[in-house]
Amino acid sequence: MDDSIYTKIDEIPQIIQQLRKSFSERLTKPIEYRKNQLHQVYKLLSENEEQIIQALANDLSKPKAESLVGELMILKQEIAEIVNNLDDWVKPEKVTMPLSLKMNQSYIRKDPKGIVLIIGTWNYPMLVLLSPFIGAIAAGCTVICKPSEVASHSASLLAELFPKYLDQNAYRIIQGGPTEMTKLLEQRFDHIFYTGSSAVGKIIMTAAAKHLTPVTLELGGKSPAIMSKDVDIMITARRILWSKAYNCGQTCIAPDYILCERSVQSALIEAFPKVLAEMYGTEIQKNNSYARIINQRHFDRIQTLLNGTKGRIVAGGDTDRNDLFIAPTIVADVPKDDTLMESEIFGPILPIVVVDSIDEAIEFVNRGEVPLALYPFSKNNDTIEYILDRVQSGGACINDCMIHGAVTTLPFGGKGNSGMGSYHGKKSFETFSHERSVLKNPFYLEKVLETRYPPYTDSKIRL
Ligand code: NAD
Repeated sequence: MDDSIYTKIDEIPQIIQQLRKSFSERLTKPIEYRKNQLHQVYKLLSENEEQIIQALANDLSKPKAESLVGELMILKQEIAEIVNNLDDWVKPEKVTMPLSLKMNQSYIRKDPKGIVLIIGTWNYPMLVLLSPFIGAIAAGCTVICKPSEVASHSASLLAELFPKYLDQNAYRIIQGGPTEMTKLLEQRFDHIFYTGSSAVGKIIMTAAAKHLTPVTLELGGKSPAIMSKDVDIMITARRILWSKAYNCGQTCIAPDYILCERSVQSALIEAFPKVLAEMYGTEIQKNNSYARIINQRHFDRIQTLLNGTKGRIVAGGDTDRNDLFIAPTIVADVPKDDTLMESEIFGPILPIVVVDSIDEAIEFVNRGEVPLALYPFSKNNDTIEYILDRVQSGGACINDCMIHGAVTTLPFGGKGNSGMGSYHGKKSFETFSHERSVLKNPFYLEKVLETRYPPYTDSKIRL
């Protein structure tokens, strides 16, 4: 990325000071203001659809359909849902009172947290930045957005569009990489929302701890698909391959690997090439329904994983560094300690690890970190429940992959190494709101309350 367009380091504290001032002046507090700015985000997305699709194509060769559905449509739906419900969400919530305080009233106010920092990653450059952003607008916060410098076309476009559509006294883009991030993280925020790798997540949390700033960490991990013997093979192969090839495998909730018995593997090995041809034809590289790896660094990382595998490639396998192309690739008979099983693949390689039973699969997953998503496949509800009961994960999707992430009424987030906190829809509003507990004690109750004051005589403390 051309770093001349990065935000100047010494401007960063000034920008934050400005947003803090705006917050203390209550600029972002009125509900009508929030709704207006949410409409402006909607307009930004609608009026610049072609440019956004182009930027995503420049960054990731993202197919138009994946940009429209996987980024823009989800965002627009979420904005509409938030605008339609905001009046309800902001209402103070009455609570029931214990008998001893029955004559008082208590409620929970939904106050904006303050100034928040939202840090995005490169794989869904619009979605992972703007989805938490609209939640923070809804909650009434002022916001700094830091897009990933790795998806540079998308970052530059957002930096150009923000001032045209949004109130710059409340919402700002800061462009840059680790140097700018380091300066940003020295500042004090009221919430930090980070999407990206677990390694950088630790840097974020360490920096936040210095100011006791709460964090949401949306991280990654190895999300397994556990298959029982009763699955419908063709449907399963289609659903798994679609989710692994979507955005060239660069989705935090892509299925990372399959665990199944040998007979299921054999059936899948027959099915996958058919499904691959069905979706992408015989010349995948020429098919414009398939994205590319973000850059050569990530291409080399994935190629190294593939070179090191002791499994056998049963579908795909073609790569072209100059074109950042890696075909959707199925690797069978992958040993449990294979290079492909060491870390999140984050690319279109799908290892199959053969196990003898569901219990062995469960035991294997539980040896690693808690994944962001879990994909149990079975026609039998008891088997599904058995797996869900024994394997922890951020979220889960039964007999399919990834689409739970598009349901804005479901909280989205990880657990342990795959993250903390959650968002989407109402949950985003809650993430950026402070639930303030309030009790109201009217003066006219003083006579009743006299018993609480010293001297504590026996008659006063009698219950
Ligand atoms: P990335 O390189 O874009 O980094 C993410 C952000 O961290 C960027 O804004 C970047 O500028 C910043 N950053 C990078 N190095 C830093 C440093 N040393 N100090 C401070 N900030 C730094 O993205 P990535 O880390 O390659 O992200 C890929 C990971 O993100 C994968 O593990 C994926 O699973 C995960 N992910 C998670 C979700 C989710 O919702 N849970 C969504 C998308 C991606």
